[in-house]
Amino acid sequence: MARKIVEIDLSGHGIRVEECPEDLRLLGGRGLTSTSIQRETDPLCHPLAPENLLVIAPGLLAGTGLSSANRLSAGAKSPLTGGIKEANSGGTAAFKLARLGIAALKFRGAAPRGRCLGLRVSREGCRLEDLGFLAGKGIYQTAEALRERFGARVGLIIAGPAGEMRMSTACLSVTDPEGEPCRNLGRGGLGAVAGAKGLKAVIIDDEGAEFRPHDPEATKALIRDFAARLKAHPVTGEKFPKYGTAMTLMNVNKLGGLPTRNFSAGSFEGAEGLSGDRLYETISSRGGQYAHGCMPGCVIRCSNKYVDPAGKAVVGSLDFETIGLLGANLGLGDLDQVAELNKLCNDIGVDTMETGAALGVLAEGGLFAFGDFPRVRDLIQEIGQGTPLGRLIGSGAAACGRAYGLDRVPTVKGQSMAAYDPRAIKGLGLTYALSPMGADHTAGNAITLAVDPTDPRVQLEAVRELHWKYTALDTLGICIFTGRVSLANPELIEQAVRVITGWAASWAELLELGKRILHRERDFNRRAGFTAAHDRLPGFMLREALPPNHEVFDVPQADLDSFYDFDREGQLD
Ligand code: SF4
Repeated sequence: MARKIVEIDLSGHGIRVEECPEDLRLLGGRGLTSTSIQRETDPLCHPLAPENLLVIAPGLLAGTGLSSANRLSAGAKSPLTGGIKEANSGGTAAFKLARLGIAALKFRGAAPRGRCLGLRVSREGCRLEDLGFLAGKGIYQTAEALRERFGARVGLIIAGPAGEMRMSTACLSVTDPEGEPCRNLGRGGLGAVAGAKGLKAVIIDDEGAEFRPHDPEATKALIRDFAARLKAHPVTGEKFPKYGTAMTLMNVNKLGGLPTRNFSAGSFEGAEGLSGDRLYETISSRGGQYAHGCMPGCVIRCSNKYVDPAGKAVVGSLDFETIGLLGANLGLGDLDQVAELNKLCNDIGVDTMETGAALGVLAEGGLFAFGDFPRVRDLIQEIGQGTPLGRLIGSGAAACGRAYGLDRVPTVKGQSMAAYDPRAIKGLGLTYALSPMGADHTAGNAITLAVDPTDPRVQLEAVRELHWKYTALDTLGICIFTGRVSLANPELIEQAVRVITGWAASWAELLELGKRILHRERDFNRRAGFTAAHDRLPGFMLREALPPNHEVFDVPQADLDSFYDFDREGQLD
């Protein structure tokens, strides 16, 4: 089926649908968002200006029941970092867009200030809807109202109040199979780009649509084989479904890499209360749901539905990065408290990681005491209310550090780190420093590598290859949590590309594709003014030893400079 690109000019110049051009035909997800932005966006534009292109693209393999292969990417110039940004999420939107034959939605221009628009996408075509009645409304209320108006089966992508107020940490929320808006295109402020354009939501109705893979019978067989292999693996078949991503928390704590009280320690005395074991016990004893799939077809099901002591739904899904940054990093050791904060952030539409990091910085600056849950809750509510202090928090950790005159600020390129301190897990430091996206663990989560995480010398090659692999997975729309099976057996990925798209790409060619996309992202950043000086961790991590293991980040700076040797002189394009 020929895929389409939909161009939406929100300045009032209409909607155009065209066939995907030949040179983009074999791109999806991150490959398509980043390539479009590199080619079509002025790197010097203001991220909130109408000239900033917002691209939403399902992964290349989206549309079938292949496990964990329906991820959605969104990209633009980031209001948080000033560089290129791609964020991806689960949910149902990618599956539905692919079934409608859509390779990408490209949003240009901006609606007149005060307008609040939705784009409805269905078999009948694409239409802009006036959503003025939802202006300023929270994500949950918006999702409920849109499902009531357009049908309970629609998939939604929503900007919350933080996005409408154009805050740099605003995310876009995507609905899961039950319609809960809890899967986030979280990082880099893409919600603010949508808000600046007057775009409140994308409503995707795939009723009557059908996705036809290149080889339907072989696709069915692959879906069965891949699912069986994922279920047979002890991590993807047993640990992820039971403990979710929180299964990693005690391990990170033991390594001394769990951000605690604004990255001043790497081990938290309350870690047990935030662990995967505690999460599983709590959810199962209260009648919540573990082993929940965030998208159609996923058999790993690392997601969950967290409930309160009375069994009432609180938030789906409570995950490791949020637990680390809204929990240990703020001195909070109670999952119920973290779940409540998570829900608040989701409703306002802000990145939980950046919010936890920003609040950690403000606690260090003396605004409140670590461990003061009521104060943390009030401060997050201030983000949604748009108070001056709320707007500062919603501008991210780097902005909070500047406002309070602090240099202990855990950011790279203006974006906060995830819940791994790179002094204890050196490979993550390379990823944070060198990803074109800022401190983003999903660019190459080095904790998965079979190397000594504390050895500064053995990481470079392995992390570099990880970046190529993850960029390829993000382009195909395959969840990185399949890695223990998919990356360990790349012939499965080759097979998936072949039977779904007809493209007989070798794994080596897919890694080359990953390299080329990284090159395009770096090229955009270079033209936006980024230099090697931006590929560095904050100085305090090089000089302050992190308790309890007293590690500093000691990967040689020359290694950082040689990381992109494969891309000298831009020879890849
Ligand atoms: S493994 Fe988890 S994050 Fe990945 S697709 Fe499945 S439920 Fe979603």
